[in-house]
Parts: sequence; C-alpha cells; structure tokens
Amino acid sequence: MGESARRRLGGWGFEGEDFPPTGEFLRWLERHLGTGVAVLRGPGRPWRLPAGRELPELAAEVSQDERDRLTHSRGQGLPDILRLRAGAVGFTPDAVCRPATFEEVGEVLERCDQAGIRIIPWGGGTSVTGGVNVIDDQVPTLSLDLERLGELENFDERSRLATFGAGVTGPRVESSLAELGMTLGHFPQSWELSTLGGWVVTRSSGQESLGYGRIDDMVAGLRLVAPAGSLELAPSPGSAAGPDLRRFVLGSEGRFGIVTSVTVRVHPSPQRRVVQAALMRSWDDGLEVVRELTQNRTPLTMLRLSDAPETQVAMAVGLQASRSEPLIRGYLRVRGFGPRACLLLFGATGGSKAIDRAIDGARSVLRRHRGLPLGSKPGAKWLRDRFRHPYLRDGLLDSGYATDTLETAAPWSALEEVRDHVRKAISGALTDRGEAVAVLSHISHPYLDGASLYFTFFFRTTALVEQNIARWAKIKRAATRAIVSSRATLTHHHGIGQWHAPWLPEEIGPSGVAALRAVADALDPKGILNPRVLLDPVDRLEA
Ligand SMILES: Cc1cc2nc3c(=O)[nH]c(=O)nc-3n(C[C@H](O)[C@H](O)[C@H](O)COP(=O)(O)OP(=O)(O)OC[C@H]3O[C@@H](n4cnc5c(N)ncnc54)[C@H](O)[C@@H]3O)c2cc1C
Repeated sequence: MGESARRRLGGWGFEGEDFPPTGEFLRWLERHLGTGVAVLRGPGRPWRLPAGRELPELAAEVSQDERDRLTHSRGQGLPDILRLRAGAVGFTPDAVCRPATFEEVGEVLERCDQAGIRIIPWGGGTSVTGGVNVIDDQVPTLSLDLERLGELENFDERSRLATFGAGVTGPRVESSLAELGMTLGHFPQSWELSTLGGWVVTRSSGQESLGYGRIDDMVAGLRLVAPAGSLELAPSPGSAAGPDLRRFVLGSEGRFGIVTSVTVRVHPSPQRRVVQAALMRSWDDGLEVVRELTQNRTPLTMLRLSDAPETQVAMAVGLQASRSEPLIRGYLRVRGFGPRACLLLFGATGGSKAIDRAIDGARSVLRRHRGLPLGSKPGAKWLRDRFRHPYLRDGLLDSGYATDTLETAAPWSALEEVRDHVRKAISGALTDRGEAVAVLSHISHPYLDGASLYFTFFFRTTALVEQNIARWAKIKRAATRAIVSSRATLTHHHGIGQWHAPWLPEEIGPSGVAALRAVADALDPKGILNPRVLLDPVDRLEA
C-alpha cells in the first residue's frame, strides 16, 4: 500500500502532520462570520462498509482492505472531507488494484471490460472536482491506483527529456531529477500527494508556471492504455502530423484511458530560489505591475498578487507575533498603504546573476508604480510553508469554519469584471440564509494575454453534515454561474471532474461535447472508465 497507508482519512496529507490556524486568523473569521460549530475528525464509531464484491482474477495486486477502500472512495474536495469526517462517505470501491507494469494495466482493463467492471483511475486522489469519487453501487467498481508505476524510467540527457511512470508523486519526481542535476519545475500546492499522470490528465498548473510553464508545456510524449487499444506518443520537439494527440490526452481525466508513463521536458536544477515581497497601494496598481512584468517578459518564475482582504489576512497572521505591529501599521498608513494595499510576491530561480537580473527588472517596474519593497522575509516564509497550507483546512474545520477554493482565468481586458462578478456571487451566496461568506482572491498564473483568478472562501459550519454541504454547494453554484456567464473559463487548473461537468457544454458547445464523446467511444466503447467525469454529467455537488 506504500505511502497511502500513512494518508490521513478525511483530511489533507499524512497522519501526525498539521498546520493549525493562528489565534489572530480565527479572530478574523469570528469577526466576519460569527462563531461556528467544530466539525469532528471522524464519525466517532467504527466504520461499517459493505463487503467488497468478488471480482475476477485481475493479473495485478488487489486489495479489499477496508481502510484502503475508504481512502479511495473520494478525493479532496470540501464535501469529500466533510463526508469522511462524518462517516457519511456514500459509496466505496469494491477493491483497489495496483498494477506494476504497463502490461498489467492493459490486462486489468481487458478483464474489467469483459466483466463490466467500472474503473476509476487514481493518481494521488487530490481531485477537488469529484474526479475520483465512486458514483453508486449498481456496478462493481475498481479504484486503479497507479502508485506502483512511480519510477524514473529513462533520462535522455542530451535532449533533457525524462520519462516517468505516471503514478510518480511530486517529491519523487524532483528527488529523482535532483540526482541528475535537473528539475521539472512543476509545483502545484498539492505537490506532496499528486502525481504526474494526474497533472497531465487534469492540465495542472504549478506555482512557478510563469517560468516553467504549465504541465501542457512540459509534456513531450506519453503512453495511454485504453480498453480498445493503446496510444504510444513518442516525444517530439514539434510536429505537424495532424492534430496533436498528446493534447487530446491532456485534460482527458481518465475518460480516454489510463496514462501509464509520461516523458517530460526538464531543466538544470536552479542554484537558488528567491521570493521577494512588495506592497502596492491598490489592486489596480498591482494588476498593472503583474501585467507589465509578464508582457515585458521579465524573467521571473512566479508572481502572485493578493487582493486587499487576502493581504489583510496575511498581515494579521504575519504580524501578530510582532511587538512592533502598531508601529509598522502606522508607518504604512502614513506612506499611503492603507486598507486597500495589496501584497505582491515575485520570485526567480537560477544562478545569482540570473536572479539579480530578474529581481532588479521587477523592482524597477515596481518603483514606477509606487510599490513598497518588503524584502525577502515574507517570501521566505511563503516558500517554507507553501506545501503546508493545505493542512490549514483541517484546523479550521476543527474550529468551526469551512474553507474551499475555486479558480478561473480571463484575458487582461476582462479580468477585473470577472473578479468582481465572482466575488459578489460568492460573498452573497448565503445571504438568504442569514449567513456571511468571506472571500479572498489572488492572481498567481499570469500569461501574456491574461491571468488566472483564484478565490478562497470561508463560511461557518453547523453540527449537520448535510447542511454544511448544502452551504458549500450553494456557494459553488453561484460562483460557477458567475464564471460561466462572464465567459471566463470554468477552470484554470482544477479540471472538470464530476462537479464542473454540467457546465462544460456551455464552454465548449454541443459540437465540442460530441467530439470528446466520439474519442471516448473510440477508446472505451463500453464506457467503463470514469463515468460522470467530463461527459454525461448529472449535478452531483451534494452527492
Ligand atoms: C490542497 C490542494 C491544492 C491543490 N493545488 C493545485 C495546484 O496548485 N495546481 C493544480 O493544478 N491543481 C491543484 N490541486 C488539484 C489537484 O491536485 C490536481 O488536479 C492534480 O493534478 C490531481 O493529481 P492527482 O494525481 O492527485 O490525480 P487524482 O486526483 O488521483 O485524479 C484526478 C483525475 O484524473 C484521473 N487520473 C489520475 N491519474 C490518471 C492516470 N494516470 N491516467 C488517467 N486518468 C488518471 C482520475 O480518475 C481523476 O478523474 C490541488 C488540490 C488540493 C486538494
């Protein structure tokens, strides 16, 4: 069972690890939302699962262990965590299968296809869109965990291409490459648990996407096994051989087959990684800086602009331990950095000279927009904790507050309108129930023509799991409607899964859906892979 044995059930990450909210942060939430009811970390009674059904011989390791089946029943969306904590998990897979080779994956698919067994591919199970959730118990269901396909298979030094098994996790990708003096540079916040195959099929984007690109840019070749056959797409630096089938697999979310290995473009390991901070007088000033730095191609690897509420939370948390807090706040006010001030983080990687060039370039743009440099301390703290932040959600639930995130992207010319629309939809979503929703937003993946918008929201919890999920679903529907009606994309990097699928036709149109369906039907004619993900949607937000 490998790493999954240490996984926390009904929470992020691994047992024994935490990142609790500070007192100052909890007071901020109480001021904005009132007092919530703590959500217990478990059902308080032994789990009782129906026995997994007997399956045919599968030519690969199979487990029907209860905890294993529970861990593989759901992903990491807020309702998943709420249901697992309450013991109201819904359906579990009948078994978890861990093939160790490409051939074993093929054989498992063949036998499941013959026997009518559903397959849910499982990378790291960090989906926040219902992508790995078991939908019902009408058909035997197998969770196909790719963790045993988790090794570096080949390194072509001259071409800087590395081939990995698709189940390799972020830390393993980087530790294997570090031994070769290389890096992939893909750091989603879920990096510690998510996998290369998962990144590819959900079109993931990492925190340093400005420098290293999103996963779409990193994939040079891949192997996909489907019930009807396989695709072996050799690495190619560029090609005009018809539509790029690699691009079909990117974003296919398990509907077209199982990605078993991926060849990625890698880079020499950077000597250093630096993140600096600055304060901008307003969001508009910050936005101009981010756009200018991106469009003039300042060689930064990350840029992140927090809006004023997110900045206030970051400062409240960061300054609470500091005795000089009143002094600092007074100084900032006098300099014109009042409640509208926005925090900007900008980072660079490489050798000292390259980093200096990038940081100097950024500072000169900042100066022109009257930004206040804050040095490297806030950035160093962000770098230190960046993969620990997901643990915060568990600590907040323990204290009576639920939090979740959602994201989109839009061209620069539409960005502010989209942000405004979505923020209003989120913050007003529970007004008719007399409940407040706090919402923070930031930009973290800028492009030449626009940027992603990321929203974090908070609401208080009650003692009833269904009520908490209903609150979440109401916010999610309101936000998604606002995104779609603004003609922004449904998702910049979380993917479609089951939860966004009902809105996909509005983004890609009926012919787009028909084209995706034709590919799914060609590769998986009986539809055993991931039903309800991407295609054939039903509204499952509250399921
Ligand atoms: C706390 C947190 C932070 C996150 N931060 C980010 C972020 O910064 N950037 C980002 O892009 N995403 C982020 N995500 C979302 C999630 O981590 C990504 O969607 C990630 O790419 C999923 O990878 P995974 O290996 O966990 O895939 P899973 O969750 O296991 O699977 C995702 C989907 O792909 C299918 N699948 C998985 N592996 C394969 C395969 N080998 N072949 C075919 N189908 C497969 C599954 O069936 C499922 O439908 C975050 C999630 C959480 C919980």
